[in-house]
Amino acid sequence: MKFSRPDADVFAPDGTPPGLALARTTHLCVGAHQDDIEIMAQAGIDDCHGRNDRFFTGVVVTDGAGSPRTGRYAAMSDGEMQAVRREEQRQAAVLGKYNLQLQLAHPSADVKAAGSAGLTADLAAIFGGCRPGVVYLHNPADKHDTHVALFLRCLTALRALPRERRPTRVLGCEVWRDLDWLVDADKVALDAGRNPGLAAALLKVFDSQVGGGKRYDLAALGRRAAHATFHTSHATDRLTAVTWAMDLTPLVENETLSVRDFVVAQIARLQADVVARLARLGA
Ligand SMILES: [Zn+2]
Repeated sequence: MKFSRPDADVFAPDGTPPGLALARTTHLCVGAHQDDIEIMAQAGIDDCHGRNDRFFTGVVVTDGAGSPRTGRYAAMSDGEMQAVRREEQRQAAVLGKYNLQLQLAHPSADVKAAGSAGLTADLAAIFGGCRPGVVYLHNPADKHDTHVALFLRCLTALRALPRERRPTRVLGCEVWRDLDWLVDADKVALDAGRNPGLAAALLKVFDSQVGGGKRYDLAALGRRAAHATFHTSHATDRLTAVTWAMDLTPLVENETLSVRDFVVAQIARLQADVVARLARLGA
């Protein structure tokens, strides 16, 4: 399995040949940075953990070069930092019993610029090389440019597949900016609370981020718990940890549907919900 960047990393924790591992993927997550997968797709990791009939594949698209660094990482060069982050991602793949971990090592600038030949080829090879039942992507209302750009690159790659080869379920997950704002009918609840020990351990693997003072581990677990509790005011919590997702399947099925129109319609439903409640209560 060859990708466009010479420093791309292909890692199948159980030693399965990578092409076979990719082909058997049932759950696929494509994230921009090391640790995005673990923030976005704990539900998919849990679905597959310890199973021999479900296979979780994680893809990290960027090289991790531009990450902030403090403490014992402060003096590291970009190259050293990339090596640390690559190794952390591999550790997560081992701990989470991933089927396959791909790290494509593209500079962020190549993700943000539409039409990068190497990235286009890599995404075509990945989406064309497996038939997952569910794909986890960044969502188009995220506030991190690289996340949104990667979502757009993935959508282009998925739409380029023959219709019968496109995945039947594609979800956009929250990282930078929660999806709690979606009206309930638009929310997809991903159950991220079935294996709390594993979820915490996976987030802690990324010491170069967490140890530097960005407590993504506490923040992601706290957000999931808050979503579970604040979702429904009158019911007791059925789920203990929730990651919200946006159902992107209509965008993948219908290539004439514009991303802007799709997102604006969701924002309009939030506006209508807020305005209708105020009107009902006399405002
Ligand atoms: Zn990220």
